[in-house]
Amino acid sequence: MHIPFDNSFATLPEGFYSRVNPTPTTSPKLLSFNDSLAKLLGITDTDPLELAQVFSGNMIPDGASPLAQLYSGHQFGNYNARLGDGRAILLGEVISNNGLRFDIQLKGSGRTPYSRGGDGRAWMGPVLREYVISEAMHALGIPTTRALAAVATGDDILREQGMLPGAVLTRVASSHLRVGTFQIFAHRGQIEDLQTLTDYAIARHYPEADGPLGLLKAVCAKQADLIAAWMSVGFIHGVMNTDNCSISGETIDYGPCAFMDIFHMGMVFSSIDRESRYAYGNQPNMAMWNMAQLATSLLQLAQDQDAALEEATAIIHAMPDQIETAWLARFGAKIGLQNSTKQDTDLIQNLLDLMQKDGADFTNTFRALSGEDARNQFTDRDAFDAWSQDHKERLASEPDPLGTMDAANPAVIPRNHRMEQMIEAASAGDMAPFNRLMNALATPYTLSDTELAKPPSPSEQVVATFCG
Ligand code: AMP
Ligand code: MG
Ligand code: MG
Repeated sequence: MHIPFDNSFATLPEGFYSRVNPTPTTSPKLLSFNDSLAKLLGITDTDPLELAQVFSGNMIPDGASPLAQLYSGHQFGNYNARLGDGRAILLGEVISNNGLRFDIQLKGSGRTPYSRGGDGRAWMGPVLREYVISEAMHALGIPTTRALAAVATGDDILREQGMLPGAVLTRVASSHLRVGTFQIFAHRGQIEDLQTLTDYAIARHYPEADGPLGLLKAVCAKQADLIAAWMSVGFIHGVMNTDNCSISGETIDYGPCAFMDIFHMGMVFSSIDRESRYAYGNQPNMAMWNMAQLATSLLQLAQDQDAALEEATAIIHAMPDQIETAWLARFGAKIGLQNSTKQDTDLIQNLLDLMQKDGADFTNTFRALSGEDARNQFTDRDAFDAWSQDHKERLASEPDPLGTMDAANPAVIPRNHRMEQMIEAASAGDMAPFNRLMNALATPYTLSDTELAKPPSPSEQVVATFCG
């Protein structure tokens, strides 16, 4: 197999990472391989046995320079001075057919110097979950890391639930630079390294950005768009710690994330988010909080502290408006408006309020707006009819409301109960539910599998999601 590596991170100072090889596994077996992504990355000659060897970490491909990246970060608001890739290893980077640079990273490939108490492994459940959800996000048109391969290791690993089958995910990202990558150098006072990292991030992601605050501004804009995009599909990241917040503006580190079925602004699934810090409706605030941490780090590079502080503050304070604008565009489209303005906020908010009051299914209610049975999603039908009347009046001046709605409202999302069923089957060696989900989620704006669009029955409902 040939992977056309072109590594840049590995040329940065040694203190940015630790060189470490993946730990071999007993009997790697390919669970899934993303052929179209492989083609985009210029990966050729894909023999399944060799794929299993390479993407389990058993065989290091020519041109790779395996390393674990160093970073720190705020976890649930508390600063942890040393995190880093505890179970991930960057193999290297490739330039894709469309000229973009991508990281190729193994996740679950064994211990690194940053593993702390962890085993460096992942079990098959979260690996396949991240595979399905990240590819679904991509198909939805939302910036995200992607999944290239999933390989079962043949080794069982110990988790709270008992012994579970291990797996390795190969993840592809525009980069794995995080807010936490900046924080570690800033907190240690390693100004020269902070400058090197900043220059690297600008060159790699935002070549037009002017200096550290130009970088801050660019990242804030990307994060504002990203959060609005998440909100528009009912996505709850679950662990928006600064080490899980990407500089490129991609969704990264899928852990106990979830797409909600029933709509509620306060919805939380993650079993570790006990104070609802990362609830659905709190995600804009948390993105701003994370950007404030990035600002704090980048400010250390400023010559004129007072002027820089003022400018950084203005950049952070611009975020609520940026998020609102992006939110309006996304939710406006969801109700059929091509050009929504602040005057449409009430119409959108009134619908969301009704949905929350009645416990309506987020995805199916919006999808039904372009058809006949949105009304059936509500218990208070009079209230919905009144809203619908306002909606019709507003739509009168719109060129293509039905087309706009169907392009903005997915018919199928990775529902939690389907993910659990998929994991249970895969753990028993049956990949059919995985393949079925991947197939339907590849074209989420077309209803190709009616069953997968259905909300869970009461007994199927998932109340909590877990880390892996
Ligand atoms: P997360 O919040 O899951 O992105 O992970 C936070 C930190 O814990 C990162 O430094 C991870 O590399 C590390 N980590 C998570 N799971 C493991 C594991 N099984 N073994 C070693 N490190 C881990
Ligand atoms: Mg080193
Ligand atoms: Mg993480």
